Amino acid sequence: MIHDSIVDAIGNTPLIRLQRVHPLGNLVAKIEYTNPGGSIKDRIGMPMILRAEENGSLEPGGVIVEPTSGNTGVGLAMAAAIKGYRLICVMADKQSQEKRDLLKALGAEVVICPTDVPPDDPRSYYSVAEQLAEEIPGAYRPDQYSNPANIDAHLDTTGPEIWSQTDGAVEVFAAGIGTGGTIGGVGAFLKAMNSDLMIIGIDPEGSIYTADTADDVTPYLIEGVGEDFWPDIFDPDVVDRYERVSDRDAFLMTRRLAEEEGLLVGGSCGMAVVGAARVATEYPDRLTIVLLPDSGRNYISKIFNDDWMREQGFL
Ligand code: PMP
Repeated sequence: MIHDSIVDAIGNTPLIRLQRVHPLGNLVAKIEYTNPGGSIKDRIGMPMILRAEENGSLEPGGVIVEPTSGNTGVGLAMAAAIKGYRLICVMADKQSQEKRDLLKALGAEVVICPTDVPPDDPRSYYSVAEQLAEEIPGAYRPDQYSNPANIDAHLDTTGPEIWSQTDGAVEVFAAGIGTGGTIGGVGAFLKAMNSDLMIIGIDPEGSIYTADTADDVTPYLIEGVGEDFWPDIFDPDVVDRYERVSDRDAFLMTRRLAEEEGLLVGGSCGMAVVGAARVATEYPDRLTIVLLPDSGRNYISKIFNDDWMREQGFL
């Protein structure tokens, strides 16, 4: 089969049973790092651009501006390259150097902003992206946090893949929540197929989704998941239960996945497995699918670096 462009090779990612980190046999991972850009966010890049072209918010010669933890930037960069658009990615400085360099390699421009400021601070990566989108003529901000194409991409692809790959046997679906696009789209699809299906949201300690009070919203190191505000597209009703996971537990599991399962995945994947394994242990006769969003290659200088792990007190 010959594809017309690399974006046509996105999706149809494999399901792999986790054998060692969860020996009960009922926990299966959907591995998104086999997407060409290396993450689940490949799935939303082209759909957001196509929708913007359709509704007239992006015209030939336009500039795409997006705040991103990196992976959405890659998905957009591949699509922007194919479509011939200029792309500016605005990132927080906690994101790894690999992610910044990767976006530049794909032809994007990268603007770095401080992490430890509130989202409404003019220095935050959200505010800076908004300001650039206002100043640059022809600029379009996909805004994955409010863009329904983010949900629809998972409603149309990720959800149906999980249903058909398990022949409808999936009973629990677990995923981390960043924008809420993945859990929203997959959750809505799977619940429409089987209303008894349980949807588990996994959240880093410090994120707003599982915070009891505003004081519980604090910085954390896991990248790509958790928020310090509630995104417009995230529908809390889709989540039946939350699990809260620490940086330490997430990163130690991330290393185990590489060393024991041969799965080189990112920190939000370790986090998702820790939370999903708690639920899969509680319901040993239910098939639990846990979604692993990206590749460990993004974190070689952090999670997979002993010095960095020791500095953080995790080893
Ligand atoms: N993990 C990583 C590494 C990510 O980059 C993202 C996207 N922000 C997610 C998980 C969460 O996905 P979503 O935005 O669809 O909730």
